[in-house]
Amino acid sequence: MILPKSPRLTPAQLAEVTAIVEPFGCSVQPIVGAIRTIYAIVGDERDELMINRLEGLDYIERVDRIQSPHKLMDRRSDLASHRITLGGVTLGDSLLVIAGQCTIDPKNPNFLYETAHAVKEAGANALRGGVWKPRTNPYSFQGDVKSLDILMEAHRRTGLPVDAEVMDETQLHLALDAGVHMLQVGARNALNYSLLRAIGRAVADRKTIVLLKRGLHMGPISEFISAAEYIVSFGNPNVLLCPRGTAPALDGYRNHPDESITPLLKEKTWAPVVVDPSHSVGKATYVPACALAAVAYGADGLCIEAHVQPSHGIGDDPKQALTPEALATTITQARHLWALRRSAKPI
Ligand code: PEP
Ligand code: MN
Repeated sequence: MILPKSPRLTPAQLAEVTAIVEPFGCSVQPIVGAIRTIYAIVGDERDELMINRLEGLDYIERVDRIQSPHKLMDRRSDLASHRITLGGVTLGDSLLVIAGQCTIDPKNPNFLYETAHAVKEAGANALRGGVWKPRTNPYSFQGDVKSLDILMEAHRRTGLPVDAEVMDETQLHLALDAGVHMLQVGARNALNYSLLRAIGRAVADRKTIVLLKRGLHMGPISEFISAAEYIVSFGNPNVLLCPRGTAPALDGYRNHPDESITPLLKEKTWAPVVVDPSHSVGKATYVPACALAAVAYGADGLCIEAHVQPSHGIGDDPKQALTPEALATTITQARHLWALRRSAKPI
């Protein structure tokens, strides 16, 4: 990773740096942070001669070598000072809450408009709404592109930034063209490397945030972080890691709750952790406790399914969406706990 002395390299400097690394089979990928741009060396960056040549340039502050399979996402990466902001919340400064429907009902857009106002009132910072849905049963409702307009209309009515899952490149470009602020990669696509690459490429020059769910299987932590590296390696470091429960399920729950991996993630990566308690436990009555557990484990944010009238919702909403009242109580308690945790001395 190359750190210039100035906030970014000039085109001539970038060309010179590129000319140095290319003979060693490497390339240079700028990663644009809020304050400065750093330059990842893509490829095997261990060659001493290449490093010496780079360090010999008078406009280079230093060249950091991190031997990690996910060197950009690594805690020791220079990206560790990168801050991600959504809906007025800078991750790490206060608790981010994304809330809204599992699935937008294209026949009943008013539900989403009402839900959007209600989650805002309850204290959420961003609105989620499933446009296209990954369904286990091929005969279940699969989502509808019409819902994208409904989601954007909910954004216009409330000012809340919006989050939607994309499962392929067509959906990805439709969502970006519509102005979706956060793209969700679902648990079923968490290790779909060609989708992760396509997303990385598509958001490289944008400020779009990607909420990357953890895969369904109980995979290693490094696999989860490396999936984020796929996206970030194209140049946009706005990635949030989202544990959402894994299979096999804990008897009685939808999945095996995994908010407990938060401290492990934080030990290895700088990426903010936004836990999804809804898919983890899968039932509205269990969601508040799981949300609070996530905050106790150190989560930076929560992604919670909520609906003005859960029983009239579609997709997961009838079983796991919180009512606006339950959401408001959960957010208030979660923010208290977050503040308590922050003010307490580390144990
Ligand atoms: C969802 O967010 O509604 C969803 C399908 O999530 P996951 O990919 O975690 O199952
Ligand atoms: Mn859902």
